Amino acid sequence: MAVPIEKAFKLAATGTYSLGNIANILHDEGFSTKKEKEVSKSHLQVILKRPTYYGYFLHNCELFEGNYEPIISKTLFDIVQDKLEDRSKPKKVEWVREFVRLIRCGNCGCAVTTTLKRKYIKKTKEWKIFIYHHCAHRKGNCEEKPLTHKELKAILFSQVERILLDKETWQLGLEIVRQKYAKEIQNNKNQHFFYSLEQQRIRDKLQRIIDMRTNGELTKEEFIDQKDKILVQLSKFENKTIDVNQSLKTWLELMEDFLNTAFQIQEILEHGKPEQKQKVLAKIGENFILKDEKLTFSFKKPHDVLLQPEMRQEVLLDLDSNQDKRIQSPLSYH
Ligand SMILES: [Zn+2]
Repeated sequence: MAVPIEKAFKLAATGTYSLGNIANILHDEGFSTKKEKEVSKSHLQVILKRPTYYGYFLHNCELFEGNYEPIISKTLFDIVQDKLEDRSKPKKVEWVREFVRLIRCGNCGCAVTTTLKRKYIKKTKEWKIFIYHHCAHRKGNCEEKPLTHKELKAILFSQVERILLDKETWQLGLEIVRQKYAKEIQNNKNQHFFYSLEQQRIRDKLQRIIDMRTNGELTKEEFIDQKDKILVQLSKFENKTIDVNQSLKTWLELMEDFLNTAFQIQEILEHGKPEQKQKVLAKIGENFILKDEKLTFSFKKPHDVLLQPEMRQEVLLDLDSNQDKRIQSPLSYH
């Protein structure tokens, strides 16, 4: 049987199949070229780029409308051209890269890897691609069952929903942290000013005892004694005036990032690039484990504060500790 043109275009338009996949499908279904040869990738490439099928023909590098019935629509042709173009770019296979090195098998501890399987659906007479996440079996046989991509996505979405901020809360949060930042910067400025006045006062004092020593009003011992005391005072202020503006800026950036992530995470998981998805998941969670056909993970700080209090990693224990500086309040810098 000759190659079914419309079918070849429709398969290519899905973007799911490589040219090799399409050639195999057509071959499996008993199609061949006019010379009774197996359909090859290069042959398909030629077919899928031929304007004749949507009713046009090339003459001297120009397209002309033919007076015959087209086999496919121009729209279908254009979609396929886009997909073919996509294919010539470096391949980015989304579902393969999304969870690289993120999930581990809860049964044997191996990495969880992703496999694509092509299945023929008898009912619809179509080939479909199925994606599975499963134990890599590096340590031999492992009983952990695979999870379909659909199941994994559903679990991720339902979990992520727990730390999601709505638009109003997100906007309010941003407003509050920005106001706080501005206030702290102003406080800091005032403090700087106060410190510089104090430093000047101490330096004047130093100058005065130098003058007194020059005029013979102080003995050498008295001068050294007073000078040492003054220098100690001065060094205290110098330590205090270390610039905290950079720390404040880092604090603001971390707070904004926290709020933005909590607002956008579902959107990123739905429409983001694989590396964005991977990054955002690694940012909010840890210990991603596939076990008993379920995916579990824990929320990282500070994102876990958005959970119900009883589900947070630690409740209120951290307020007095300076160990976790990632989201420290600027007040603690004073
Ligand atoms: Zn395993």
